[in-house]
Amino acid sequence: MTAASGPANDDCIFCAASSGSVRLRPDPARDELVLARGRVSYVILNLYPYNNGHLMVVPNRHAPNLATLSADEQLELMRFTRHAEMALTEAYAPHGINIGINLGKPAGAGVLDHLHVHLVPRWNGDTNFMTTLGNTRVLPEDLAHSAAKLRPIFERLANQEKTAEDAKIAEKI
Ligand SMILES: [Zn+2]
Repeated sequence: MTAASGPANDDCIFCAASSGSVRLRPDPARDELVLARGRVSYVILNLYPYNNGHLMVVPNRHAPNLATLSADEQLELMRFTRHAEMALTEAYAPHGINIGINLGKPAGAGVLDHLHVHLVPRWNGDTNFMTTLGNTRVLPEDLAHSAAKLRPIFERLANQEKTAEDAKIAEKI
């Protein structure tokens, strides 16, 4: 926990799913949605996807915005966002991807005060993004199926990165 820790929020679904939180309670249904866990953040499928593969990158901490993120959190959030782009591209071959953060209710945030980065794969001719935000959703693939496709890709990307870092360290020695 950093000094800039946000206020405890027992009702926050992102705090509940965070491994960095003492509020983490065992929940197999929720853990089924988690695709990757880092040191200070994690990746989770959206329970109410706008499109197949809709996932979110979330800091463990109840941080309301980018301004309150630590350097570590900024780095890992972007690292996971990059991996998510790569994983979605590999698993779904979408024509495009929406990557975005909604801060505050007027901006469309579903969960207030706990920052999360949405990644939504897009295909030519799929429903307009704003329309899908208005509850008209395309039929999603089964979430367990999405998780089974994406989780191994996240694992591989993390391992590849670790191998590359180890090689760099070895070069310096
Ligand atoms: Zn929270």
